Amino acid sequence: MSGQGLGGIKEYVFDPASPEFYDEASLAAEERRVFEVCHGCRLCAGLCPSFDILFDRIDSKDISAAELSGEDLHAVMDACYYCKLCYTKCPYTPPHEFRLDFPHLALRHKAVQFKKRGSNFSGRLLADPAGMTRKSRPLAPLANAVNRSKPARKLMSALLGIHPEAPLPPVASRSFTSRFPKLAKPSQPRERVVLFTTCLVDGNYPGLGEALVAFLAACGVEVLLPSGQECCGFPSFDTGDIESSAAKARKNVALLYPYAKQGLPIVAPVSSCAMALATEYPLLVAGEEAKTVAAATRDLFDYLAALKARGLWPTAEPSPLGEVAYHLPCHLKQMGVGFKGRDLLRDIPGTTVKLLDACSGHDGTYGIRTGTYEASMKVGRKLFNKVKESEGLVATECPLSALQIGHATGRQAVHPVVLLARAYGIEVSAND
Ligand code: SF4
Ligand code: SF4
Ligand code: SF4
Repeated sequence: MSGQGLGGIKEYVFDPASPEFYDEASLAAEERRVFEVCHGCRLCAGLCPSFDILFDRIDSKDISAAELSGEDLHAVMDACYYCKLCYTKCPYTPPHEFRLDFPHLALRHKAVQFKKRGSNFSGRLLADPAGMTRKSRPLAPLANAVNRSKPARKLMSALLGIHPEAPLPPVASRSFTSRFPKLAKPSQPRERVVLFTTCLVDGNYPGLGEALVAFLAACGVEVLLPSGQECCGFPSFDTGDIESSAAKARKNVALLYPYAKQGLPIVAPVSSCAMALATEYPLLVAGEEAKTVAAATRDLFDYLAALKARGLWPTAEPSPLGEVAYHLPCHLKQMGVGFKGRDLLRDIPGTTVKLLDACSGHDGTYGIRTGTYEASMKVGRKLFNKVKESEGLVATECPLSALQIGHATGRQAVHPVVLLARAYGIEVSAND
């Protein structure tokens, strides 16, 4: 089945509606076929724990992929945290006849496991971060204090499977959606754009949403916010709960389609959420509406760069930002739209941008689950060292990577939109 994609890979091997999708024998046969190709290719050696486990299990036992046990298959697939980095290496993705799609194969594996075992209390909570944040909001200061308390975190670890040291995003006392009506709009808009808020910005980082709306207003762009948005559904993917992801996707598609049909662009301040709309929704929701929403979804900085090229840009003289260490989120590399956020910052006189090309290891719930936290910190070590060696500001387009970077290095990473707003003298509000 095909998804639209923001760029990069254009066709995915993932069809939950097909009769074999949940068939264990068919899945195991496909895993052994793919692993044999990977073992011959080895381009992804050292890329992530999945490939380390795969090559180690085959090499140490001196066997072929066909001889891997069911436990071996599970160990490889379970270690995938869906960063999609292997797409940037793989010469065998469709339309190549090998039709390799390693990340979606891992998702299918998790979906089959989920179907067999169902979910537990911790799984259900982790799959619904928006719901958790919504429930905590009336007691936001208390929730944030609990998240910082060592004894409380030990209890959470036992009850919820969240590692006691894993950083958790702050709960904001007012959501972005509730603040939005009071935000300034351009008096004579020259263009309109639809905002898919993302649950992270809505419940945890509303200040980032405000900075984006203010910056777009300074460009002469009015932001439209369809009400009733759901989380994109990615966290349910993590647990293999395809049906819950699809239910959220259907709701968001129904909400966004009327705008997409008018030709309005859709942007999201978190690149992985934009990826969900642009690449996963056509795989989860049948029909033209999901494809139309996917096609309308733009990478935020690709959209901003296009505004700038058309002269829709703040007129103020920007202030220099000095040195900026710019982390590239893995999902962005897969989009195939270049690194436009980096380029926009680099255009500001008196600003030097250095790319930090390494994974933060956060990737959804991988960075917080008790069983994967240590591995996630290990994955992120290269990035953390680069951040520690850097001077000046640290930027990342991914708020979860920012959280991970802050936790590991003590340096606060800022979203590039916030830096753009600051450079152009646009007031950025507090996040609470
Ligand atoms: S998606 Fe990321 S974690 Fe999964 S196999 Fe590919 S590189 Fe590894
Ligand atoms: S995913 Fe593709 S590039 Fe990576 S090891 Fe397998 S065949 Fe090679
Ligand atoms: S990918 Fe975006 S919308 Fe989905 S859970 Fe994460 S922050 Fe929320």
